Amino acid sequence: CGIVGYIGYRDAYPIVIKGLHRLEYRGYDSAGVALLDKELKVYKKAGKVNDLENFVKDIPLKGTLGMGHTRWATHGAPSDRNSHPHPSNSRKLTIIHNGIIENYATIKEALLTKGYKFKSDTDTEVLINLIEDIQKETGLDLQEAARLALNKVIGAYAIVIMCSTEPDLMIAARKGSPMVIGVGKGEYFVASDATPIVEYTKNVIYLNDNEIAYIRRDDLLIKNIDNTIQTPYIQELDLQL
Ligand code: GLU
Repeated sequence: CGIVGYIGYRDAYPIVIKGLHRLEYRGYDSAGVALLDKELKVYKKAGKVNDLENFVKDIPLKGTLGMGHTRWATHGAPSDRNSHPHPSNSRKLTIIHNGIIENYATIKEALLTKGYKFKSDTDTEVLINLIEDIQKETGLDLQEAARLALNKVIGAYAIVIMCSTEPDLMIAARKGSPMVIGVGKGEYFVASDATPIVEYTKNVIYLNDNEIAYIRRDDLLIKNIDNTIQTPYIQELDLQL
């Protein structure tokens, strides 16, 4: 339902939580965050963003790479374990996702046969483990594995992926579900609409369907999922908040 992500030099958590509050108007049943502070830390709860904040209030939350999600359940009941972010089996990768992966059952069955375990009932957890499996099978980097996985997926998505061994990389992609990238100096923001971004930068890129963005603190590369490099169109936001 709602997506927000940050990569830069500031603490990600306050930016992510504030962004989730800004996205609350869309409605949701659960909320969660992931932060990369040497290791990947994931905290998630059914309920309101406030419940999530109470849940983590005594935990020091560090990291300049982070993301958050408000979920509107489509696959699996609203619950702590079905909330996003969803880590992969190795816990190296983690994902947040808006939308629906329509062919998740077929992919899940294939992954179960290979020994993958699932902690949630979501379609989303299937996608992150598909990426992990492709990476394992092919030896390709995360960027390529994610792109190949998205080529196998039927459905609608806006996703953000983080990886514990890639502290300077955030991957965002969209098909049929909106995704905005805010362009700062040495920092980038991503969100499912511009409201969490507008107070930090007016320069935004709206991802098009079938585009995948590889975002580093000092670099942004956008490709089509068929692997052609796209020229990003930066536009100025004209939003009164
Ligand atoms: N299909 C996913 C789920 O049920 C994402 C739902 C959403 O867009 O929030 O967990």
